[in-house]
Amino acid sequence: MKKIAILGSTGSIGTQTLEIVREQRDIEVTALAAGANAALLEEQIREFSPKLAALWEDGAAASLRERVKDLPVKVVSGMEGLLEIATMPEAEILVTAIVGMLGIRPTIAAIEAGKAIALANKETLVTAGHLIMPLAQEKHVPILPVDSEHSAIFQSLHGERENKISKILLTASGGPFRGKKRAELEMVRPEDALKHPNWSMGRKITIDSATMVNKGLEVMEAKWLFGVGLERIQVVVHPQSVIHSMVEYEDGAVIAQLGTPDMRLPIQYALYYPERRSLSGKRLDFFQLQSLTFEEPDLETFWGLKLAFEAMGRGGNIPTAYNAANEMAVSLFLEGKIQFLEIPELIQLCMEECSYVQRPTVEEILRTEAEAYELIKGRR
Ligand code: NDP
Repeated sequence: MKKIAILGSTGSIGTQTLEIVREQRDIEVTALAAGANAALLEEQIREFSPKLAALWEDGAAASLRERVKDLPVKVVSGMEGLLEIATMPEAEILVTAIVGMLGIRPTIAAIEAGKAIALANKETLVTAGHLIMPLAQEKHVPILPVDSEHSAIFQSLHGERENKISKILLTASGGPFRGKKRAELEMVRPEDALKHPNWSMGRKITIDSATMVNKGLEVMEAKWLFGVGLERIQVVVHPQSVIHSMVEYEDGAVIAQLGTPDMRLPIQYALYYPERRSLSGKRLDFFQLQSLTFEEPDLETFWGLKLAFEAMGRGGNIPTAYNAANEMAVSLFLEGKIQFLEIPELIQLCMEECSYVQRPTVEEILRTEAEAYELIKGRR
């Protein structure tokens, strides 16, 4: 039996992870954590019988504790609760499927406790990759990518570890506004930006896909995961989302991973790596597909992507400024308080005005986050 703990079990990645648990029948769920969705978490507790469960707010956790008092589960809360789950002795793998920088401390704690990380929470690597990757190496802990593009790269590297990567080709669907120009995006409403053409995901990452900031975060994630320079990462717009990403080697060979857009595949691959298991669902039909197309990204319209290369190039805490500004800007956009095009504007503002720290500690990363939030509040 594999033993896993899931941070963010009620979200898009979390629920799909539990679908795999249901289908495979040889994974034990030791812990589940959610933010506020007590009703779904209670259902999950009743179905999967974890030993530990967490909700963010103390009050919500207390009322859940009362509701599940017929079961042998301990209900915890806050950051302390997430850390208890991340380090619990029973779990072998921690699935990090919460959104945002909240994932940094539990991920570090889990690595220190020797857990393998199935990493969906890309914001963790974007902001703290310089701390997480060396720590994982020191503790001999694998970081198994869940993001479909990074899983595709990981799969394309299989058996090639000794061979030098010449280029990573990170594919992007282009999101719902592919082909539009900046002027056409001025009046975009949250409901328009939430309509992703190929993938069904959580709200924050769906907005990030519409701005292409998600691809920017993925570029930074790829740099940390695969240890390649930015100049070796190329974003390729591929609207059909069939090729999930590719690796070009020194001899010009390009190895790719293809599949239908189904996040259960990369999640399952991370959980069972290096084993492949059967998975229900549609298969690619090449006769139906007929053609796969590719385009260069439009960095003028989607300049959040361009800013990501700049943020990573400057390094230090600038990727944190980029990410924190984006997290706040996306929330404000979803609340109808700012326009779509203000998202990259606010990112740029924070990248320019946050005080620079070359090799930030976790505390300095969190301070940069707070500074970016203050800058945005001050500007509004
Ligand atoms: P969702 O918004 O669907 O889910 C987020 C999860 O985090 C929910 O379970 C939520 O709980 C939980 N959560 C939020 N706040 C807290 C908190 N304070 N404490 C504990 N749990 C909390 O997000 P996604 O599943 O879409 O994305 C998760 C991560 O995976 C992101 O980093 C994203 O970039 C990445 N990712 C997602 C992909 C996808 O297909 N969805 C693809 C690749 C990467 P609640 O329901 O109670 O709010």
